[in-house]
Amino acid sequence: MPYCINSSVLEIFRIGPGPSSSHTIAPMRAAREFVRRCASLPQAVLDRAVRVSVDLYGSLALTGKGHGTDKAVAAGLLGAEPETCDTDWLHALLPPGGGYDIPLGGRQVRLEAESIALRRREANPYRYANAMKFRLLDADGETVFEDVAYSTGGGAVEYENPRDADSREPGEAAYRYRDWATFLRLVDKYGLPPAEIAMENEKAVTGRAAEEIRAREKAILDAMEESVARGLATIGRLPGPLRLERRAEHVLRLAGTTMADCGFLARLDAYALAAAEENAAGNRVVTAPTGGASGLFAGVVHFLREDRKVPLETLQDGLLVAGVIGTIAKTNASISGAEVGCQGEVGVASCMAAAMMAFADGLSPELVGVAAEIAMEHHLGLTCDPVDGYVQIPCIERNAVGACTACNAAMLARLSTPGKQKVTLDEAFAAMLETGRGMNAKFRETALGGLAACALCD
Ligand code: SF4
Repeated sequence: MPYCINSSVLEIFRIGPGPSSSHTIAPMRAAREFVRRCASLPQAVLDRAVRVSVDLYGSLALTGKGHGTDKAVAAGLLGAEPETCDTDWLHALLPPGGGYDIPLGGRQVRLEAESIALRRREANPYRYANAMKFRLLDADGETVFEDVAYSTGGGAVEYENPRDADSREPGEAAYRYRDWATFLRLVDKYGLPPAEIAMENEKAVTGRAAEEIRAREKAILDAMEESVARGLATIGRLPGPLRLERRAEHVLRLAGTTMADCGFLARLDAYALAAAEENAAGNRVVTAPTGGASGLFAGVVHFLREDRKVPLETLQDGLLVAGVIGTIAKTNASISGAEVGCQGEVGVASCMAAAMMAFADGLSPELVGVAAEIAMEHHLGLTCDPVDGYVQIPCIERNAVGACTACNAAMLARLSTPGKQKVTLDEAFAAMLETGRGMNAKFRETALGGLAACALCD
């Protein structure tokens, strides 16, 4: 096998502030890491440093303001972590004319609000769509240290100059697979349930014990539940110029009345809307695989837990299996709207959620993959065109529609005959990548085309 997937599948589920993991979680992590790297610079370099500046490129620049990327960068420079940072504090950062003293190697350097520059009109000189250039400057504005990081989707960060400390994976996967077909072959060969293979690999690549991994799974599921519960309990307008009203509470209230014939779908809609609205508000959510698509999987989890009474242990196992599928999509295609459009975000979220539903329904590993493939197939070509650059229209409703598609895909998989499918999940991911590469850049998270450019939204 030329390569194998050797990363934690639970990393596809990152807890952190919305509204876009590429624009909030990753920049916060990269900024915090920049400060950590600076702290180990020679004292003579540190002594010259008086200011920090950050240049944002690609969709980080084009839609960074609406996504709160500047605040996320400031928070990271101030030492905040996505999972634990106080979102009210985060939202209040960078008032006009504001600035901060950043503790660095025993001294302070200054961050002014205008030092975080959104390079909207400049060509991105770097190798990846979403680039961040961090610089330490001296009193004359000369660069004394520079580092470049990339936001590669779902809150993940890669560095132009990786250091040893970036490779935190202490081990090799116990079971080697590179796509869904090779994963299914392992299931057959060793006669193990998919969740057990995923758990053994998770232990091997992270170096964590099974109990720690179980605890992490529960924390992820609980954070998803909390985002749904908060969303259902909150009414009013979302932040931003669109002045969009939250709808989750209203939809849930009507779900059992006027929607009696398909009330369960309306409930699922409400759950996904609730978490997606929390994401749009910049509150704490769980990427699955991204922040913009976080409402979809969280809504499905809440539906399975509350409406279907699926036991926690089954959901924990399902999380691992969905994580395998999301990680295959990320590795072999993309989960970044800036790279492949919304098919990589809501499309992959629906695919993962369909797998979760099929798993919770007790379908065979093969049919779990069929459910995922059906959901992925019917999101191919989906563009990313957030109106005004805010993760609200079409994103919030798209989470609800994607959750219902996942439910339908799981049902169609249940009604399928194993071995009769013409398109495999791996082929659907390959088609997604090819489609994304062929997509005009204006449909890839730049807010320059599609719904983002429609007359209604002027
Ligand atoms: S359209 Fe899709 S990919 Fe784009 S910001 Fe919205 S949810 Fe994310």
